[in-house]
Amino acid sequence: MPELPEVQALVAFLDERLTGRAFASLRVAAISALKTFDPPLSALEGERIDGVHRHGKFVDVETGGAHLVFHLARAGWLRWYDEVPKTPVKPGRSPLALRVRLDDGAGFDLTEAGTKKSLAVYVVRDVADVPGIARLGPDPTAADFTLDDFAGILAGRRTQIKGLLRDQSVFAGIGNAYSDEILHAAKLSPYLLAAKLTPEQTEVLYRAMRDTLAEAAAVASGRPPAELKDAKRRAMRVHGRTGETCEVCGDTIRQVIFADSTFQYCPTCQTGGKPLADRVLSRLVK
Ligand SMILES: [Zn+2]
Repeated sequence: MPELPEVQALVAFLDERLTGRAFASLRVAAISALKTFDPPLSALEGERIDGVHRHGKFVDVETGGAHLVFHLARAGWLRWYDEVPKTPVKPGRSPLALRVRLDDGAGFDLTEAGTKKSLAVYVVRDVADVPGIARLGPDPTAADFTLDDFAGILAGRRTQIKGLLRDQSVFAGIGNAYSDEILHAAKLSPYLLAAKLTPEQTEVLYRAMRDTLAEAAAVASGRPPAELKDAKRRAMRVHGRTGETCEVCGDTIRQVIFADSTFQYCPTCQTGGKPLADRVLSRLVK
């Protein structure tokens, strides 16, 4: 799943190519992906694009009249074309969810692999009409998001920090992968309760969060969409690396399997060498 750094790179890529152009056509192939009906998708045709923005993991293409908003979810992706194929878009089993053509012939497909479909497309007059955007917490990478703000959010929350970091209503844009990376960088157990962090641990976690996301944004920046997923995977230190060696301490990276999600951590770096139980983490699944 693309998270804040990849979505940010995608937004920069699209902003450069879309701003100043107009939508020529938008064709839905996966009806279930379109979550709104008023205004209709066709209302965007002919509209000039004013800019492309990010809200958490949502991409927002702004026009004078309405916004095209999408969330790629777990298995969704964007494929860019300098010349969009002329083949007709038919609803069916293909991974294609939406095809967008611009007035210069360029455009993109939104695609989604697998059978569980959760890619979401919205056409709204105001981005706050997208429920997932309306409930987003603060952007953890914002210049004015301070250590005090962070400490204020953690204080009193009897929630495991792994779950808290990836809760979109608490911090916008962090998912399963970067929460693993942040906790590894901070050398903290995913199961620690936010309310129990010492001021020192809170500061370490804040710095790890900011640094990890900034490093990842630097890795993603300037890359075309086709390269973003691999670049993200290569830069991971623990996430997705079960059984591999921790580059910090040499221990073997372990995983916890929880419902339909797994996460990784290093016992020596993060949990005093102790393996974590699978069932302790109660707030991970969203
Ligand atoms: Zn380690």
